[in-house]
Amino acid sequence: MHDVLMIGGGAVGLSIAYELAGRGRRVHVVERGELGGESSWAGAGIVPPARENKADAPLVQLAGLSARLHVELAERLRRDTGIDTGYRVSGALYLSSDAATHAKMDGELAPFRAQQIACEQLTSARLAEIEPALRGALDDGRLTTGFHVPGEAQLRNPRHVRALVEACKQRGVTFTINATVEEFVTRDGRLVEVRTPRGAFAAEQYCLTTGAWSGRVGEQLGLKLRVKPIRGQIALVNPPEPVIRGIVYVGRKYFVARDDGRVLVGSTEEDVGFDKSTTASVVRDLLDFAVRLAPALENARVEQTWAGLRPHSADDRPYLGQAPNLKNLFVAAGHYRWGLALSPGTAVVMTQLMHGETPSVDLRPFAVGR
Ligand SMILES: Cc1cc2nc3c(=O)[nH]c(=O)nc-3n(C[C@H](O)[C@H](O)[C@H](O)COP(=O)(O)OP(=O)(O)OC[C@H]3O[C@@H](n4cnc5c(N)ncnc54)[C@H](O)[C@@H]3O)c2cc1C
Repeated sequence: MHDVLMIGGGAVGLSIAYELAGRGRRVHVVERGELGGESSWAGAGIVPPARENKADAPLVQLAGLSARLHVELAERLRRDTGIDTGYRVSGALYLSSDAATHAKMDGELAPFRAQQIACEQLTSARLAEIEPALRGALDDGRLTTGFHVPGEAQLRNPRHVRALVEACKQRGVTFTINATVEEFVTRDGRLVEVRTPRGAFAAEQYCLTTGAWSGRVGEQLGLKLRVKPIRGQIALVNPPEPVIRGIVYVGRKYFVARDDGRVLVGSTEEDVGFDKSTTASVVRDLLDFAVRLAPALENARVEQTWAGLRPHSADDRPYLGQAPNLKNLFVAAGHYRWGLALSPGTAVVMTQLMHGETPSVDLRPFAVGR
């Protein structure tokens, strides 16, 4: 018998397990595949800047809390596990190729301005100083205007989840992997056991952190979680010399430059169910985009391509709360494009909730029964 059973071991589940174990709870994580092997491995690891301000909307507060915690967490994980998660403030350029994209981008950056987060519109010449590899596209007008957000950060997903697993172990968290939770046993309004092909598990409390699978799993529990998978494809390229320096968005596509010179080129938002294939047309499109704007990437080695399934919730808000039908079941799922960024704050508020405390962020907009 455990105190808490986490169902799903992605970044969200692992972060909550880590936080709960820090409060002395005996936590067990049951994961269908490898720990952190799904969306949390596949993502680009961008952590946008956000400030903590009680006057902001709860989602913005969650982002603010998480942004602060990422800084502390990266340091703590490095100290306790020896793993450098690659967290660094690399800054981001938000560029556009036409007036419509510019207007959309301007709107999307409004939350930064509202929070007085540095977000400056720069001339092409200044943009080219920040990312010299894009000078040609900026000079000839293929990229027109752009903004610089110096506070944007990034981390290396595989390292982050590996460090979380190690840190969880140090706090006594135990794991069962390659075990899909297939059956739920309920009694008197409580979940009493979950069953997997590798055995049954029981706990005082349960927390559902099954990412893109949460809609399906929720159904088995009588919960209506409107979460579905949205595929994102990525190509990882490695140029002989560093080319891109930070994060660069052009509309919905982006470059994310890692410290070692490798560059992630992403991504797509495809509604294709649970299919994690990469496709020739998308990979070609991503590489075209990369080489067209940064010709120095022409000789970069294409090291890997992959796809992940983002957990998209119908109203763009994660589900964070207690199940209305089962007293000891909690849900943290549906973070869509920002699950990595929001995971440390999610862990704190879910831990508070599961301890019967008032969460430091108002969780009503994220209610499970909405
Ligand atoms: C291409 C791409 C780029 C992205 N870029 C970013 C980014 O830059 N910044 C950012 O913050 N976010 C980004 N994301 C989104 C982010 O990766 C997700 O929001 C986040 O990983 C969700 O974490 P999770 O733990 O909820 O889900 P997951 O990591 O998918 O974990 C859920 C886990 O539950 C397990 N599971 C499912 N069903 C069961 C079951 N029945 N029994 C047991 N286990 C089960 C799964 O195997 C999985 O491991 C990106 C995602 C993609 C795909």
